[in-house]
Amino acid sequence: MIIKQILENDTFLREDILRLLNCRDEDRTLLFNKSAGIKEKIIGKKVWFRGLIEFSNVCSKDCLYCGIRKGNKNLKRFNLSDEEILSAAKFAYDNRYGSIALQSGEIESTAVADRIENLIFKIKELSRGELGITLSVGEHSHEVYQKWFDAGAHRYLLRIEATNESLYRKIHPGNKKHDFKRRLECLKSLQDIGYQTGTGVMIGLPFQTMDDLASDLLFMKEFNIDMCGMGPYIEHADTPLIHYAADLLPLNERFDLTLKMIAIIRIMMKDINIVASTALQAIDPLGREKAIKIGANIIMPNITPGRYRDSYKLYDNKPCTDESAEDCRSCLEARVSLADSEIVYGEWGDSQHYDKRRKSIYIPKSDPNE
Ligand code: SAM
Repeated sequence: MIIKQILENDTFLREDILRLLNCRDEDRTLLFNKSAGIKEKIIGKKVWFRGLIEFSNVCSKDCLYCGIRKGNKNLKRFNLSDEEILSAAKFAYDNRYGSIALQSGEIESTAVADRIENLIFKIKELSRGELGITLSVGEHSHEVYQKWFDAGAHRYLLRIEATNESLYRKIHPGNKKHDFKRRLECLKSLQDIGYQTGTGVMIGLPFQTMDDLASDLLFMKEFNIDMCGMGPYIEHADTPLIHYAADLLPLNERFDLTLKMIAIIRIMMKDINIVASTALQAIDPLGREKAIKIGANIIMPNITPGRYRDSYKLYDNKPCTDESAEDCRSCLEARVSLADSEIVYGEWGDSQHYDKRRKSIYIPKSDPNE
């Protein structure tokens, strides 16, 4: 009964979120039915692609959970050539994916900033301006973000990872390169510049509490994000956090909590874009379609050349590392239709929330001289 009452509202207090995160059985079904209904009403049965190009696993950071952290010496490092990146982008364009997402480890340097700017120009050129571009390349200066925006990138995904600063410090080394406040400032820069701004967290981290997860959702609402990318934390044997593996929630519970987080944010922020993350599929082969059913509307088919995929292992058992881009597309098509949804080809699928937010910021003011 309590859950039913909570779901009659769509602004949630912390205690409401905690109840929803802990709900089971029929209450859980009520939650998922509500979020699925909102998705269908606001977004429809549509799913948009972002062709994911994981172009380099070279990283200057040492995040304690991440398989491509600088300190992992058991990893073959790669950096795709510009030609390889552009040919993956061309594949996305030829197959009418609508958008691509460029993702990599984090290197802050003029050479990297210039390279990415040049790639954005070239991707726009090869697609006659038609391919949308999402970046997910970590923390950079306001000026660098501005330069990429001016070149034509229009969405940026920068997960805050954990909004409780003390939890953030437990899952990152304690130095200037891993500064919570800097990550937050980066998100603010992205929003100020005018990107569709996305963030998210990992779910089921060591030391994380339900209260932390409730704070994460409240943060996203308060920050007024346009896009959300959240996924379960999955351990990686070559990372320091592996020592806490015995304390983690079982994988099926991390999976279920992720679905609940997606459902709750869909109710709290009806018109944002929500990614069905690949990490869900690492736990359950039908993980992404389950996320689509209850609220997600974006899928990121991997179009990185197959031979590099094994080296972009953020966590153990990452799926689809042995597939080609073509395999990935046909597999996703079958999966999305299983979820009773339809892939929209050749469209950007921008966040409706962004459009409304921008319009409310830029309501044309009447000219005082008129
Ligand atoms: N370096 C960029 C950044 O931090 O925004 C993008 C690349 S980073 C590898 C992409 C995302 O992978 C991170 O934001 C993090 O949430 C996720 N990730 C890393 N290790 C993970 C793990 N063990 N389990 C689940 N997700 C993980």
